[in-house]
Amino acid sequence: MRKNDLEIQEWLKQRKAQSLYRSTRLVSTPQQPVMVVDGQEIVSFCSNDYLGMANHPEVIKAFSDAASRYGVGAGASHLVSGHSQAHAELEQALAEFTGRDAVLLFSTGYMANLGVVSALIGRGDSVFQDRLNHASLIDAGLLSGAKVMRYKHNDLQSLAGRLAKDTASNKMILSDGVFSMDGDMADVSGLVRLSQEYKAWCLLDDAHGFGVLGKKGAGLLEHTGASQQDVPLLMATLGKAVGVAGAFIAGSFEHIELLKQLSRTWIYTTAMPPAIAVASRKSLLLIQREDWRREKLVSLITLFKQGARERNIQLLPSDTAIQPVFIGDNQAAVETSDHLLKQGIWVTAIRPPTVPPNTARLRVTLSAIHTEMQVNRLLDTLAECLKQRD
Ligand SMILES: *Cc1c(COP(=O)(O)O)cnc(C)c1O
Repeated sequence: MRKNDLEIQEWLKQRKAQSLYRSTRLVSTPQQPVMVVDGQEIVSFCSNDYLGMANHPEVIKAFSDAASRYGVGAGASHLVSGHSQAHAELEQALAEFTGRDAVLLFSTGYMANLGVVSALIGRGDSVFQDRLNHASLIDAGLLSGAKVMRYKHNDLQSLAGRLAKDTASNKMILSDGVFSMDGDMADVSGLVRLSQEYKAWCLLDDAHGFGVLGKKGAGLLEHTGASQQDVPLLMATLGKAVGVAGAFIAGSFEHIELLKQLSRTWIYTTAMPPAIAVASRKSLLLIQREDWRREKLVSLITLFKQGARERNIQLLPSDTAIQPVFIGDNQAAVETSDHLLKQGIWVTAIRPPTVPPNTARLRVTLSAIHTEMQVNRLLDTLAECLKQRD
């Protein structure tokens, strides 16, 4: 039955009591380590701008020059009249960078995942999800109408067991590349082996690896040496390490052409603004050229992990820029995050249903443009706030 306002207020109050209430904070600066949030100057450790591209002067200039040339809106979907030269050039650059035949741009990563899965899988088919997959993959599986099976996190035996029992002729394995709330990496070669053995599609979501992992920054598949044949469907986003917005699928010419015919979240939506495509291409160029960003990020990750060990701060096992501090209890996570913010450090608390029950955490993310001093300050403040709770 439809809830009235009083009932909604009551429901919201319960969410607050359970420390599950969600709300936004107001940012009045660009994404960068030092930001102004709700009027307070803080150091942020919660953005996915891992390489510091979101506020890069050359990317900003590319964006504004492109807005002058192409205008603001794309005006229509790609298949109608919205596919500009800017989009085509970005697709070409991404295909070269990832070593794939072709690329299809989407307006967001969420839409890319929904679009690919529903295009290739449907009723009567089966989808296999890592338990800790991102919500967009989970939703993609549900929307497809296929039977959904979730396997234990990064557990190939659990996956193999489910694949072996399943009788559907059309199967798809879905996995985060770098797990978004945990920071650990998928066992790519294991996934490749099982997808080949069971003739299943394999979609890898490299939202958090693209730009950051691999020698050139082409992501987890460069890092692990997986070819287009190994992982036929690669998804990555342009809103995280690339610092702009949007997403893409990379694969063979045939796969990409097939998606153009069937992918509803690509067909029935306005193309991303051309200036976004130009800014993304500029960022991509800088990411490939400026190796120091990846090197600096790696050294900050090492510094943070070592400093946490010395201070007895309990981290989840991760070698990436995502370094979650394990808390467990929702209220403790929210209170610790609030306490940190009072000390001028911004780290968001991540709670269920984003993560499993009793695994609330502070999701620390590092960026190449943090300084060592800022990371040390984070460590000291974290240690102090956690000690006060004991
Ligand atoms: C952020 C994220 C997405 C969604 O990408 P958007 O472009 O922000 O919609 C998809 N998958 C994973 C793993 C993500 O972390």
